[in-house]
Amino acid sequence: MTESATASLSAGGTAEASSEAMIAAEGLTKYYGEFIAAENISFSVPGGQVVAFLGPNGAGKSTTMKMLTGFLAPTRGHASIGGYDVFTQRLEAASVLGYLPENGPLYSEMTPKAMMQYCGRLRGMSGGDLKARIDYVVECCSLGTVWEKPVGKLSKGFRQRVGMAQAILHDPQVLILDEPTSGLDPNQTHQARELILTLAKTKTILLSTHILAEVQAMCSRVILINQGRLILDGPVSELASEVSQMEDRFRELTG
Ligand code: ADP
Repeated sequence: MTESATASLSAGGTAEASSEAMIAAEGLTKYYGEFIAAENISFSVPGGQVVAFLGPNGAGKSTTMKMLTGFLAPTRGHASIGGYDVFTQRLEAASVLGYLPENGPLYSEMTPKAMMQYCGRLRGMSGGDLKARIDYVVECCSLGTVWEKPVGKLSKGFRQRVGMAQAILHDPQVLILDEPTSGLDPNQTHQARELILTLAKTKTILLSTHILAEVQAMCSRVILINQGRLILDGPVSELASEVSQMEDRFRELTG
């Protein structure tokens, strides 16, 4: 993280709104052959904001999130996290970023326990520090009952929670979460929202979701894309103040 971005965290570790972009997309564009999945997407998220990334299925949300996290090379454009370019300063960007990809964790043969130890070591963590962080994520993602079962054998809801645990394991300042509540039952959804609200006190978060009630409960700003193009970027109130109106407005803008 750059010096001025560090300065945006108060001594108590509480994120305060800062003008420095913790997440920045500059003209992100992705073509698959002739097909344009994302075109000229630009926005910046200052420290401390929780932003909903919305759009109908196929709008280009996951594609954009993959480019923002350095998992997919853009056809054009740049992305940075914490002031670090995700391609030219990959390691620095990765050290301040936690990413929950759309299909959850990739290591289906590993247990959550093995996966957290592996991911922790990849992140340069070890000993008591790693153990303390693992104890924290087991607790806040409620992984105790599945700790020693292979990830590939877990329900979608538990796989999501393992994905969330690996995203927050190294206590990153920025979280990019691709549908964090997808596949969760109502109890798990509630728990995941509570966790995100807790994380939001100290982190900058970009999350995609189809659940507009979630946007109102957790986010201060909305970025809406449709057919690969950014069509709205503003406070949640710009979409609407009531969830029912939000649905109408969403349909109006993207239908
Ligand atoms: P969203 O996350 O908003 O549902 P995606 O970013 O997953 O949308 O996809 C945007 C569009 O790009 C979709 O039409 C999808 O089919 C297409 N797409 C995504 N990945 C690929 C790929 N690897 N090859 C070709 N088309 C793709």
